[in-house]
Amino acid sequence: MSVHRVSDPAPLVIAIDGPAGAGKSTVGRALAERLAIDYLDTGAMYRAMTFAALRRGIPEGDLAEIAAMAPEIEIVIDDRTVMVDGIDATAAIRGRAVTEAVSQIAANPTVRDVLVARQRAWVAAHGGAVVEGRDIGTVVFPDARLKLFVTASPRVRAERRVGEIGGNVDEIEAAIIIRDRKDSTRDHSPLAEADDAVVVDTTGMSIDEVVEHIMGMLG
Ligand code: C5P
Repeated sequence: MSVHRVSDPAPLVIAIDGPAGAGKSTVGRALAERLAIDYLDTGAMYRAMTFAALRRGIPEGDLAEIAAMAPEIEIVIDDRTVMVDGIDATAAIRGRAVTEAVSQIAANPTVRDVLVARQRAWVAAHGGAVVEGRDIGTVVFPDARLKLFVTASPRVRAERRVGEIGGNVDEIEAAIIIRDRKDSTRDHSPLAEADDAVVVDTTGMSIDEVVEHIMGMLG
């Protein structure tokens, strides 16, 4: 097993990208625990920005207002909590309003520039991390030690979400497909596999199996 030591020259960074609901967060958290490094959910940062815009009443399509707002928003993320301008937004960022608006906010180039810089600073301050998102292996950490593209069929992803939060599987599958399309077709840093990413299809695999499979790759 490869474990990061303080004396290592470069901090250990593992990039996990993939579409909504593929199991990235569960796998990422478990992997970080096994490797004794921190875990950063960059989707939570885009959700936090979206929460801030909704709270300020700025329409998600207002490019200029969103761009002006982005550098001013304070986001503090730790293991379980997301604070936005001093407000605990942990639950609200998972709600429907934020989920429906987040892809448009995440397509804003200024929002991306602001958050990518903060993600790199967070990882540097934490001495490495498992970092999860859509553009981590392609843009944020192109030199990550290991790049994973975690995916599963839209149906399976919808079924898992229903298992977690309930709801109608057909509607959730349709919403997932729409969000994937928006994230994959935007101009700025679209969801994409890095050339050197390892694709992990979690359809029909348990979390434990996925984590063991990835640990095997780290040698
Ligand atoms: O991972 P999660 O589903 O919480 O991400 C919410 C949204 O944030 C994604 O649908 C995507 O629009 C955006 N996102 C992004 N780049 C990342 C992480 C998330 O554009 N690195």
